[in-house]
Amino acid sequence: MTEFKVLINDEISERGIKILENAGFSVVVHHYDADELKHIIKDFDALIVRSATKVTREIIEEGAKGRLKVIGRAGVGVDNIDIAAATENKILVVNAPTAATRSVAELTLAFAFALARDLIEANNELKEGKWTKKKHKGFVLQGKTWGLVGYGRIGREVGKLARALGMNVVAYDPYIKEADVELLDRLEDLLKIADIVSIHVPLTPETKGLIGENELRAMKKGAILINTARGGIVDEEALAKVINEGHLRGAGVDVFEEEPPRPDNPLLKSEKVYVTPHIGANTVEAQDVAGEIIAEQVVKALRGERPEFLVNKEVLNDS
Ligand code: NAD
Repeated sequence: MTEFKVLINDEISERGIKILENAGFSVVVHHYDADELKHIIKDFDALIVRSATKVTREIIEEGAKGRLKVIGRAGVGVDNIDIAAATENKILVVNAPTAATRSVAELTLAFAFALARDLIEANNELKEGKWTKKKHKGFVLQGKTWGLVGYGRIGREVGKLARALGMNVVAYDPYIKEADVELLDRLEDLLKIADIVSIHVPLTPETKGLIGENELRAMKKGAILINTARGGIVDEEALAKVINEGHLRGAGVDVFEEEPPRPDNPLLKSEKVYVTPHIGANTVEAQDVAGEIIAEQVVKALRGERPEFLVNKEVLNDS
């Protein structure tokens, strides 16, 4: 039997590498640039990447001329992989969509805690020598309502944490029928009652601009909006405007329509908007788990078993 060869082109966790080695595969950990990759890819059965490597049609077609059978993305987003080209060439694409769930949920909670107490302004002012104790009157989360827009993996995890704080949790997700929290049929009903609104939907043509000026104005006065999902779901200009006018207490934003955001992005100018550079999945644990999951997926795919996190299911359905 030929030994399977796996190329890890972007760094993954040691635990992931061990899983591949224990499966008896030959593992090469090296970052090849696009040109080099094009030349050597045909010698590998599997290619594992994170977001740095762009897996183009050209690379995929070269791989398909040789041994390439599976591409693994150690993380969620597969926008750096030409899925159509992989599907046409019957190459499986697998990812690790569950790896970051807890990490993104905790970052969402961190924004809520911080915004409810003006943490960043208080920190900055004190370091500038200002004792602004009276200015920062916060509120406790216990007893308040958390509104989840999207009740998938991350939405549910945030809901679980919010309930543990003694909050009332409601969700809007027209694609699910049952939930362990109150499901609202209309987004505006959620916006009206939630003290914290957090976004956990994917960016799709339907969710692009889902939260615009009307939706922001429909939120409770003094409420907080948190977007740790994707840029483009919340209208950035409108958010800055509504916050600067004082309708909302503030916002937490980890994701931007354009990343990095331009220096003149209005969200970077408002002190009531707390921003982070898309760090939702940047934890030791998420990276470890992503490496493990992707290694398990690649092992299954190469052994002819069906991987759970297959992105292009069509490849197996028509074979
Ligand atoms: P998921 O697929 O488990 O859940 C998404 C949910 O959104 C689903 O339940 C779906 O029914 C719902 N949904 C879809 N369209 C909707 C709409 N129009 N209105 C309301 N609900 C809608 O995904 P997940 O793992 O929970 O991740 C959610 C998002 O978080 C992802 O799409 C991803 O973009 C983002 N994310 C961000 C980071 C980060 O670093 N900040 C990391 C991982 C994921």
